[in-house]
Amino acid sequence: MSYKKEFEKGLDKLWKYRRDNFLAIVGGQHRKKMSRKEREKEIKNLSNLVVETMIRDKKIRQEFNQTTKKIKRLKISKGNLQKRFNKFFQKAIKKIHNRKFIYIFWGKEKKCLYVGESRRGIRRLRGYRRSIIFKEARKVEIRVPVPKGLAKLECMAIHILKPKYNEIKGPKRKYARKCPICKNTNRIRKELRNVFAIKG
Ligand SMILES: [Zn+2]
Repeated sequence: MSYKKEFEKGLDKLWKYRRDNFLAIVGGQHRKKMSRKEREKEIKNLSNLVVETMIRDKKIRQEFNQTTKKIKRLKISKGNLQKRFNKFFQKAIKKIHNRKFIYIFWGKEKKCLYVGESRRGIRRLRGYRRSIIFKEARKVEIRVPVPKGLAKLECMAIHILKPKYNEIKGPKRKYARKCPICKNTNRIRKELRNVFAIKG
């Protein structure tokens, strides 16, 4: 089943719940109300389905690429960790001259490990010298954003690539309002809370 279909099904479930409640009132019966916790669980599920639907949308992929001005890919050589890092870092210093960019650590089998942003140039990457992220990484992709596109690029990359080590993946991120995926998810979540309001 497609994510969009699943979204429809989840939404129908909430509507049916509400409908049954009305009918119970009309029929003079008592019916257990949906708790806040139960509702939040449904809304969370629906929010995830919005994200899954959107990241598969061609237009969103296009927007992600249009927010990228330039891409550089740096391979990480083999050998001991220290040497590997130094070699990588030297290469990065030579190749990356922009101050603002996002960096994507890639592991084996094209698994995305981490997405981060730098506002102060390549030195930001120094902190990964001894990290588990660098240890696992095979490649680092640098994406330079179009003007004012840094936050949007980073947030979109996290939705689309689902990095293993990023802790905050959803619309709680502080730049969420710049990201079209967060924007829609937040809007739908807010409306669902209004439509399926819980009193008391
Ligand atoms: Zn976002």
